[in-house]
Amino acid sequence: MFGIYVHIPFCRKACHYCNFHFSTSLGNRTRVVNAIAAEIRLTHIPQTGCQSIYFGGGTPSLLHVDEWEIIMKAIKSKTDISNIQEFTVECNPEDIDSDLIENLKQLGVNRVSLGLQSLNELELKAMNRAHSKEQSLTALALLNKEKSITLSVDLIYGTPWKSDEEWQGELDFIKKYSTIKHLSAYALTVEEKTVLAHQVNKNIIPPIDEDKAALQFDILQKHIKKVGWEAYEISNYCAEGYRAIHNSNYWNFLPYYGFGPSAHSYDGDTLRYWNEPNNARYVSAIENHSFPREIEKLTENDRLNEYIMVKLRTKEGIVWSDIELLRMSWRKEKKTMLEHYKSNGWIDIDESGFYLTNKGRLIGDELSANLFES
Ligand code: SF4
Repeated sequence: MFGIYVHIPFCRKACHYCNFHFSTSLGNRTRVVNAIAAEIRLTHIPQTGCQSIYFGGGTPSLLHVDEWEIIMKAIKSKTDISNIQEFTVECNPEDIDSDLIENLKQLGVNRVSLGLQSLNELELKAMNRAHSKEQSLTALALLNKEKSITLSVDLIYGTPWKSDEEWQGELDFIKKYSTIKHLSAYALTVEEKTVLAHQVNKNIIPPIDEDKAALQFDILQKHIKKVGWEAYEISNYCAEGYRAIHNSNYWNFLPYYGFGPSAHSYDGDTLRYWNEPNNARYVSAIENHSFPREIEKLTENDRLNEYIMVKLRTKEGIVWSDIELLRMSWRKEKKTMLEHYKSNGWIDIDESGFYLTNKGRLIGDELSANLFES
Protein backbone atom coordinates (compact mmCIF):
# COMPACT_ATOMS: atom_id res chain seq x y z
CA MET A 1 0.00 0.00 0.00
CA PHE A 2 1.21 3.48 -0.72
CA GLY A 3 0.10 7.12 -1.04
CA ILE A 4 0.66 9.76 -3.71
CA TYR A 5 1.46 13.36 -2.80
CA VAL A 6 1.43 16.19 -5.36
CA HIS A 7 2.88 19.57 -4.41
CA ILE A 8 1.35 22.57 -6.20
CA PRO A 9 3.96 25.31 -5.61
CA PHE A 10 1.88 28.44 -6.13
CA CYS A 11 0.02 30.83 -3.84
CA ARG A 12 -1.86 34.06 -4.47
CA LYS A 13 -0.12 35.82 -1.58
CA ALA A 14 2.73 34.96 0.77
CA CYS A 15 1.38 34.42 4.29
CA HIS A 16 3.74 36.08 6.74
CA TYR A 17 4.37 32.98 8.87
CA CYS A 18 4.83 30.46 6.05
CA ASN A 19 8.06 28.69 5.14
CA PHE A 20 6.65 26.09 2.73
CA HIS A 21 7.85 26.10 -0.85
CA PHE A 22 5.64 28.22 -3.12
CA SER A 23 5.85 31.05 -5.65
CA THR A 24 3.42 33.94 -6.10
CA SER A 25 4.41 34.31 -9.79
CA LEU A 26 1.75 32.27 -11.49
CA GLY A 27 3.09 32.90 -15.03
CA ASN A 28 4.92 29.59 -15.49
CA ARG A 29 2.15 27.50 -13.98
CA THR A 30 1.42 25.46 -17.09
CA ARG A 31 5.08 24.52 -17.45
CA VAL A 32 5.22 23.39 -13.83
CA VAL A 33 2.00 21.38 -14.18
CA ASN A 34 3.35 19.69 -17.31
CA ALA A 35 6.62 18.95 -15.51
CA ILE A 36 4.73 17.36 -12.59
CA ALA A 37 2.81 15.17 -15.06
CA ALA A 38 6.11 14.26 -16.76
CA GLU A 39 7.73 13.41 -13.42
CA ILE A 40 4.82 11.08 -12.62
CA ARG A 41 5.19 9.39 -16.01
CA LEU A 42 8.96 8.98 -15.52
CA THR A 43 8.54 7.37 -12.08
CA HIS A 44 8.06 3.70 -11.41
CA ILE A 45 4.82 3.45 -9.40
CA PRO A 46 3.19 0.09 -8.59
CA GLN A 47 0.06 -0.47 -10.69
CA THR A 48 -1.99 -1.45 -7.66
CA GLY A 49 -2.01 -0.60 -3.95
CA CYS A 50 -2.61 3.16 -4.08
CA GLN A 51 -4.59 3.97 -0.96
CA SER A 52 -4.61 7.77 -0.90
CA ILE A 53 -3.91 10.85 -3.02
CA TYR A 54 -3.10 14.20 -1.44
CA PHE A 55 -2.73 17.50 -3.30
CA GLY A 56 -0.94 19.97 -1.04
CA GLY A 57 1.07 23.11 -1.41
CA GLY A 58 1.11 25.92 -1.96
CA THR A 59 -2.49 26.28 -2.99
CA PRO A 60 -3.81 23.42 -5.15
CA SER A 61 -7.25 25.02 -5.36
CA LEU A 62 -5.93 27.73 -7.68
CA LEU A 63 -5.40 25.17 -10.48
CA HIS A 64 -7.71 25.31 -13.49
CA VAL A 65 -9.73 22.26 -14.40
CA ASP A 66 -7.53 21.49 -17.44
CA GLU A 67 -4.44 21.59 -15.20
CA TRP A 68 -6.04 19.14 -12.77
CA GLU A 69 -6.78 16.86 -15.71
CA ILE A 70 -3.18 16.91 -16.96
CA ILE A 71 -1.92 15.68 -13.58
CA MET A 72 -4.73 13.20 -12.97
CA LYS A 73 -4.30 11.69 -16.45
CA ALA A 74 -0.63 11.07 -15.65
CA ILE A 75 -1.48 9.44 -12.30
CA LYS A 76 -4.13 7.22 -13.88
CA SER A 77 -1.70 6.15 -16.62
CA LYS A 78 0.61 4.72 -13.94
CA THR A 79 -1.60 3.26 -11.23
CA ASP A 80 -5.13 2.11 -10.53
CA ILE A 81 -6.90 4.69 -8.36
CA SER A 82 -10.39 3.21 -8.63
CA ASN A 83 -10.25 1.84 -5.08
CA ILE A 84 -8.44 4.60 -3.21
CA GLN A 85 -9.86 5.31 0.22
CA GLU A 86 -9.06 9.00 0.46
CA PHE A 87 -8.45 11.77 -2.08
CA THR A 88 -7.69 15.08 -0.34
CA VAL A 89 -7.14 18.50 -1.86
CA GLU A 90 -5.95 21.50 0.15
CA CYS A 91 -8.14 24.49 -0.72
CA ASN A 92 -8.13 28.11 0.30
CA PRO A 93 -11.49 29.79 1.01
CA GLU A 94 -11.16 32.42 -1.75
CA ASP A 95 -11.09 29.69 -4.42
CA ILE A 96 -14.20 27.82 -3.35
CA ASP A 97 -17.21 28.17 -5.64
CA SER A 98 -19.71 25.70 -7.09
CA ASP A 99 -17.60 25.14 -10.23
CA LEU A 100 -14.51 24.17 -8.24
CA ILE A 101 -16.54 21.84 -6.00
CA GLU A 102 -18.10 20.18 -9.06
CA ASN A 103 -14.67 19.75 -10.66
CA LEU A 104 -13.25 18.22 -7.50
CA LYS A 105 -16.16 15.78 -7.30
CA GLN A 106 -15.64 14.78 -10.94
CA LEU A 107 -11.99 14.07 -10.17
CA GLY A 108 -13.00 11.77 -7.30
CA VAL A 109 -12.00 14.07 -4.43
CA ASN A 110 -13.72 12.98 -1.20
CA ARG A 111 -11.95 15.22 1.32
CA VAL A 112 -11.15 18.93 1.32
CA SER A 113 -8.62 20.42 3.71
CA LEU A 114 -9.68 24.04 4.03
CA GLY A 115 -7.09 26.61 5.09
CA LEU A 116 -9.25 28.80 7.30
CA GLN A 117 -6.45 29.58 9.81
CA SER A 118 -8.62 32.18 11.57
CA LEU A 119 -12.09 33.67 11.65
CA ASN A 120 -10.78 37.00 12.89
CA GLU A 121 -10.60 39.62 10.14
CA LEU A 122 -7.74 41.55 11.75
CA GLU A 123 -5.74 38.40 12.25
CA LEU A 124 -6.26 37.31 8.64
CA LYS A 125 -4.92 40.66 7.50
CA ALA A 126 -2.01 40.61 9.96
CA MET A 127 -0.99 37.19 8.65
CA ASN A 128 -1.40 38.39 5.03
CA ARG A 129 -3.91 35.67 4.17
CA ALA A 130 -5.51 36.08 0.75
CA HIS A 131 -9.08 35.63 2.03
CA SER A 132 -11.54 37.45 4.25
CA LYS A 133 -13.76 36.05 6.99
CA GLU A 134 -16.73 36.48 4.67
CA GLN A 135 -15.07 34.33 2.00
CA SER A 136 -14.47 31.65 4.64
CA LEU A 137 -18.15 31.66 5.60
CA THR A 138 -19.22 31.40 1.96
CA ALA A 139 -16.78 28.54 1.36
CA LEU A 140 -18.01 26.70 4.46
CA ALA A 141 -21.66 27.13 3.47
CA LEU A 142 -21.00 25.76 -0.05
CA LEU A 143 -18.86 22.86 1.11
CA ASN A 144 -21.25 21.92 3.88
CA LYS A 145 -23.92 21.12 1.25
CA GLU A 146 -21.69 18.45 -0.28
CA LYS A 147 -22.30 15.24 1.56
CA SER A 148 -19.80 13.29 -0.60
CA ILE A 149 -16.92 15.50 0.60
CA THR A 150 -15.76 15.53 4.21
CA LEU A 151 -14.04 18.61 5.49
CA SER A 152 -10.92 19.18 7.50
CA VAL A 153 -10.13 22.73 8.56
CA ASP A 154 -6.83 24.31 9.59
CA LEU A 155 -6.75 26.81 12.43
CA ILE A 156 -3.86 28.67 14.08
CA TYR A 157 -3.76 29.54 17.78
CA GLY A 158 -1.32 31.23 20.15
CA THR A 159 -1.06 34.33 17.95
CA PRO A 160 -0.69 37.92 19.22
CA TRP A 161 -4.08 38.77 17.65
CA LYS A 162 -6.45 36.15 19.09
CA SER A 163 -7.81 36.19 22.65
CA ASP A 164 -8.64 32.98 24.52
CA GLU A 165 -12.35 33.78 24.17
CA GLU A 166 -12.02 34.24 20.40
CA TRP A 167 -10.15 30.93 20.14
CA GLN A 168 -12.93 29.14 22.02
CA GLY A 169 -15.41 30.95 19.76
CA GLU A 170 -13.68 29.63 16.62
CA LEU A 171 -13.73 26.07 17.97
CA ASP A 172 -17.44 26.37 18.84
CA PHE A 173 -18.17 27.89 15.43
CA ILE A 174 -16.71 25.06 13.35
CA LYS A 175 -18.78 22.52 15.31
CA LYS A 176 -21.88 23.96 13.64
CA TYR A 177 -20.88 22.46 10.28
CA SER A 178 -21.87 18.82 10.01
CA THR A 179 -19.36 17.98 7.24
CA ILE A 180 -16.37 19.21 9.29
CA LYS A 181 -15.00 15.97 10.70
CA HIS A 182 -11.38 16.89 11.18
CA LEU A 183 -9.32 19.77 12.58
CA SER A 184 -5.63 20.49 12.16
CA ALA A 185 -4.71 23.08 14.79
CA TYR A 186 -1.25 24.60 14.92
CA ALA A 187 0.39 26.95 17.38
CA LEU A 188 1.89 29.91 15.53
CA THR A 189 5.65 29.47 15.22
CA VAL A 190 8.22 31.96 13.99
CA GLU A 191 10.15 30.31 11.17
CA GLU A 192 13.45 31.69 9.91
CA LYS A 193 13.44 33.95 6.85
CA THR A 194 9.71 34.68 7.04
CA VAL A 195 8.12 38.13 7.20
CA LEU A 196 6.88 37.17 10.66
CA ALA A 197 10.47 36.58 11.83
CA HIS A 198 11.44 40.00 10.47
CA GLN A 199 8.46 41.64 12.22
CA VAL A 200 9.34 39.99 15.53
CA ASN A 201 13.05 40.90 15.20
CA LYS A 202 12.14 44.53 14.50
CA ASN A 203 9.62 44.65 17.38
CA ILE A 204 6.81 45.33 14.92
CA ILE A 205 4.88 42.55 16.59
CA PRO A 206 5.57 40.90 19.96
CA PRO A 207 7.33 37.54 20.18
CA ILE A 208 5.20 34.43 20.64
CA ASP A 209 3.75 34.30 24.13
CA GLU A 210 4.42 30.67 25.13
CA ASP A 211 2.07 30.87 28.14
CA LYS A 212 -0.79 32.08 25.96
CA ALA A 213 -0.09 29.32 23.42
CA ALA A 214 -0.09 26.75 26.25
CA LEU A 215 -3.39 28.08 27.59
CA GLN A 216 -5.00 28.00 24.14
CA PHE A 217 -3.67 24.45 23.64
CA ASP A 218 -5.38 23.53 26.91
CA ILE A 219 -8.63 25.18 25.73
CA LEU A 220 -8.34 23.05 22.58
CA GLN A 221 -7.80 19.79 24.51
CA LYS A 222 -10.81 20.48 26.76
CA HIS A 223 -12.98 21.38 23.77
CA ILE A 224 -12.01 18.20 21.89
CA LYS A 225 -12.89 16.11 24.94
CA LYS A 226 -16.19 17.93 25.45
CA VAL A 227 -17.35 17.40 21.85
CA GLY A 228 -16.31 13.73 21.91
CA TRP A 229 -13.64 14.00 19.23
CA GLU A 230 -10.33 12.17 19.25
CA ALA A 231 -6.94 13.88 19.79
CA TYR A 232 -5.05 11.39 17.65
CA GLU A 233 -1.93 13.46 17.00
CA ILE A 234 -0.54 16.61 18.65
CA SER A 235 -1.92 18.84 15.86
CA ASN A 236 -4.75 16.64 14.57
CA TYR A 237 -8.26 16.02 15.91
CA CYS A 238 -11.27 14.25 14.45
CA ALA A 239 -14.72 12.80 14.90
CA GLU A 240 -14.69 9.04 15.40
CA GLY A 241 -13.70 7.22 12.21
CA TYR A 242 -12.33 10.30 10.45
CA ARG A 243 -8.59 10.11 11.04
CA ALA A 244 -6.71 11.36 7.98
CA ILE A 245 -5.68 8.23 6.09
CA HIS A 246 -2.90 9.81 4.02
CA ASN A 247 -1.21 11.55 6.92
CA SER A 248 -1.70 8.57 9.23
CA ASN A 249 0.19 6.49 6.68
CA TYR A 250 3.15 8.90 6.99
CA TRP A 251 3.06 8.31 10.74
CA ASN A 252 2.89 4.55 10.17
CA PHE A 253 5.94 4.69 7.86
CA LEU A 254 4.13 3.40 4.78
CA PRO A 255 5.64 4.30 1.38
CA TYR A 256 4.59 7.40 -0.52
CA TYR A 257 5.52 8.96 -3.83
CA GLY A 258 5.83 12.76 -3.90
CA PHE A 259 5.72 14.82 -7.09
CA GLY A 260 6.36 18.48 -7.79
CA PRO A 261 8.98 20.95 -6.52
CA SER A 262 10.03 20.23 -2.88
CA ALA A 263 7.87 17.09 -2.64
CA HIS A 264 9.22 14.32 -0.40
CA SER A 265 9.03 10.55 -1.00
CA TYR A 266 9.74 7.51 1.15
CA ASP A 267 10.20 3.88 0.13
CA GLY A 268 8.79 2.50 3.39
CA ASP A 269 12.22 1.25 4.46
CA THR A 270 15.52 3.17 4.43
CA LEU A 271 15.29 5.61 1.49
CA ARG A 272 13.93 9.13 1.61
CA TYR A 273 14.26 11.55 -1.29
CA TRP A 274 12.99 15.01 -2.05
CA ASN A 275 12.76 17.27 -5.07
CA GLU A 276 14.49 20.57 -5.67
CA PRO A 277 12.49 23.33 -3.84
CA ASN A 278 12.82 25.69 -6.81
CA ASN A 279 10.26 25.79 -9.62
CA ALA A 280 12.63 26.81 -12.44
CA ARG A 281 15.34 24.26 -11.56
CA TYR A 282 12.71 21.55 -11.05
CA VAL A 283 11.13 22.18 -14.46
CA SER A 284 14.45 22.36 -16.23
CA ALA A 285 15.63 19.04 -14.73
CA ILE A 286 12.41 17.24 -15.60
CA GLU A 287 12.42 18.66 -19.14
CA ASN A 288 15.89 17.12 -19.46
CA HIS A 289 14.49 13.77 -18.28
CA SER A 290 16.35 13.77 -15.00
CA PHE A 291 15.05 13.69 -11.44
CA PRO A 292 15.88 16.88 -9.50
CA ARG A 293 16.24 14.91 -6.28
CA GLU A 294 18.35 14.57 -3.21
CA ILE A 295 18.43 11.13 -1.66
CA GLU A 296 19.04 10.15 1.95
CA LYS A 297 19.76 6.62 3.07
CA LEU A 298 18.57 6.27 6.65
CA THR A 299 20.92 4.73 9.19
CA GLU A 300 19.71 2.55 12.03
CA ASN A 301 19.83 5.59 14.37
CA ASP A 302 17.92 7.75 11.85
CA ARG A 303 15.11 5.19 11.73
CA LEU A 304 15.00 4.93 15.51
CA ASN A 305 14.93 8.72 15.94
CA GLU A 306 12.26 9.15 13.25
CA TYR A 307 10.13 6.53 14.97
CA ILE A 308 10.43 8.37 18.31
CA MET A 309 9.82 11.82 16.79
CA VAL A 310 6.75 10.78 14.82
CA LYS A 311 5.16 8.27 17.17
CA LEU A 312 5.47 10.30 20.35
CA ARG A 313 3.21 12.90 18.70
CA THR A 314 0.46 10.28 18.26
CA LYS A 315 -2.22 9.16 20.69
CA GLU A 316 -0.82 5.60 20.70
CA GLY A 317 2.72 6.79 21.39
CA ILE A 318 5.75 4.52 21.47
CA VAL A 319 4.99 0.80 21.35
CA TRP A 320 7.60 -1.39 23.12
CA SER A 321 7.41 -4.19 20.59
CA ASP A 322 7.92 -1.74 17.67
CA ILE A 323 10.84 0.13 19.17
CA GLU A 324 12.48 -3.14 20.22
CA LEU A 325 12.46 -4.20 16.57
CA LEU A 326 14.58 -1.10 15.88
CA ARG A 327 16.81 -1.54 18.97
CA MET A 328 16.28 -4.40 21.38
CA SER A 329 18.06 -2.71 24.31
CA TRP A 330 16.36 0.72 23.93
CA ARG A 331 13.82 0.36 26.74
CA LYS A 332 16.48 -0.69 29.22
CA GLU A 333 18.86 2.10 28.15
CA LYS A 334 16.20 4.82 28.54
CA LYS A 335 14.64 3.50 31.76
CA THR A 336 15.92 6.35 33.97
CA MET A 337 14.89 9.10 31.56
CA LEU A 338 11.42 7.61 31.08
CA GLU A 339 10.93 7.42 34.84
CA HIS A 340 11.96 11.08 35.04
CA TYR A 341 9.38 11.96 32.32
CA LYS A 342 6.70 10.01 34.20
CA SER A 343 7.45 11.62 37.56
CA ASN A 344 7.07 15.05 35.92
CA GLY A 345 3.68 14.05 34.54
CA TRP A 346 4.81 14.28 30.90
CA ILE A 347 4.13 10.66 29.93
CA ASP A 348 2.07 7.68 31.00
CA ILE A 349 3.64 4.23 30.79
CA ASP A 350 1.79 0.91 30.51
CA GLU A 351 2.52 -2.64 29.40
CA SER A 352 2.21 -1.79 25.68
CA GLY A 353 4.41 1.34 25.67
CA PHE A 354 4.25 5.01 26.66
CA TYR A 355 2.52 8.12 25.40
CA LEU A 356 2.39 11.86 26.13
CA THR A 357 -0.01 13.34 28.64
CA ASN A 358 -1.58 16.74 27.83
CA LYS A 359 1.20 18.34 29.90
CA GLY A 360 3.79 16.41 27.89
CA ARG A 361 2.18 17.35 24.58
CA LEU A 362 3.13 20.97 25.21
CA ILE A 363 6.82 20.06 25.04
CA GLY A 364 6.52 16.93 22.90
CA ASP A 365 9.30 17.78 20.43
CA GLU A 366 11.72 18.58 23.26
CA LEU A 367 10.90 15.29 25.02
CA SER A 368 11.48 13.39 21.76
CA ALA A 369 14.80 15.10 21.07
CA ASN A 370 16.14 14.05 24.48
CA LEU A 371 15.40 10.42 23.61
CA PHE A 372 17.26 10.50 20.28
CA GLU A 373 20.38 8.46 19.58
CA SER A 374 23.30 10.36 18.03
S1 SF4 B 1 -1.54 29.78 1.36
FE1 SF4 B 1 -0.57 28.14 2.57
S2 SF4 B 1 1.29 27.56 1.43
FE2 SF4 B 1 0.56 29.53 0.61
S3 SF4 B 1 1.75 31.07 1.72
FE3 SF4 B 1 -0.18 30.80 2.81
S4 SF4 B 1 0.23 29.20 4.36
FE4 SF4 B 1 1.90 29.14 2.87
